[in-house]
Amino acid sequence: MNNIKHLVAFFAVVALTCSLNATEKVYRLKLAASWANTVPILGVAPIEFQEMVETMSNGRLQVRIDDPNKHKAGLAVMDLTKTGQYDIGYTASYYYKGKDAKLSFFTTIPFGLLATEQHAWFEYGGGKELAQEVYDQHGLIHLQGGNTGMQMGGWFKKEITSLEDLKGLKVRIPGMGGEVMSKLGVLAVTVPLGELYTSLDRGTIDAVEWISPVFDINMGFQKVAKFYYTGWQEPASEIQFLFNKKSFENLPKDLQMIIETAASKVANRVMEKAMYQNALAWDKIETEHPDVKVASFPKEVLTALSKATDTILDEQASKDPLFKKILDSQRAFITKARAWTKMGDYAYINNTEK
Ligand code: CA
Repeated sequence: MNNIKHLVAFFAVVALTCSLNATEKVYRLKLAASWANTVPILGVAPIEFQEMVETMSNGRLQVRIDDPNKHKAGLAVMDLTKTGQYDIGYTASYYYKGKDAKLSFFTTIPFGLLATEQHAWFEYGGGKELAQEVYDQHGLIHLQGGNTGMQMGGWFKKEITSLEDLKGLKVRIPGMGGEVMSKLGVLAVTVPLGELYTSLDRGTIDAVEWISPVFDINMGFQKVAKFYYTGWQEPASEIQFLFNKKSFENLPKDLQMIIETAASKVANRVMEKAMYQNALAWDKIETEHPDVKVASFPKEVLTALSKATDTILDEQASKDPLFKKILDSQRAFITKARAWTKMGDYAYINNTEK
């Protein structure tokens, strides 16, 4: 029986090899991922991409995936791709805002667009062209890699009732959210991943901003902090496939299109999975920890956060014309898009809630 199985397997390999025209070149690409395959949703996305491009190209495209356990540079995937050490990076644009502040726009910014609004802006409102204009300066081709949607404002041990409550509060919140909160007197701290839970448990820090239920649940924050604040800082985190421009342009047009198609399909899956898995993870948290309270910051806090965000954005815009062009484009679209979101989805939810 086993011999028959081996024989079948052998002929399957022969058939696959023969179906590749002898003259057809096989392109081998290396992909550096920012997340290990154990990370929900984002860890599997590059594997799905790999399977799709290999099947769609009938084996002419081969992708090797290295995760941070291998390349040791989860937060430097853009550089690994830019320098050509890797052909493709699967990462988040805003990780590199220290190198170029404009890169934040293509993931998410505080008080920015929602995922559906952002996709519309990206596809039809000039976003794609602006992203490429920025990435051209880095020798990279940019494709969307999926949106994990709304992020929560974080796990807080104490309720926040006023601006005063934020003064001196130690919050683990990275990126622009941290920069904005600092303007309101928060001490935005960095804590190594392995120490986050203990630090929150022991009260060394007062709060942790992480992601959303599906990512937060395994961190266990719900056991030690009872206020789960709603989001403002990262309303639509978009992930990217970044391609080394030379590697991409070296590929025949049909393979380029296979890559674009696969990336787009993977991006859709990420968004659908984020919706599905967040819903299930929140249900589990709510059931197992009924004492967890979903809370929103008071209006005065949100107004101050929004003002501080605008100050930071306007300051950067005054120093960089392309930053200003992108900011103006997003601001112009958000006004129109939000009117529709409010009278569409938002009104529907408010009016039909039982
Ligand atoms: Ca976050």
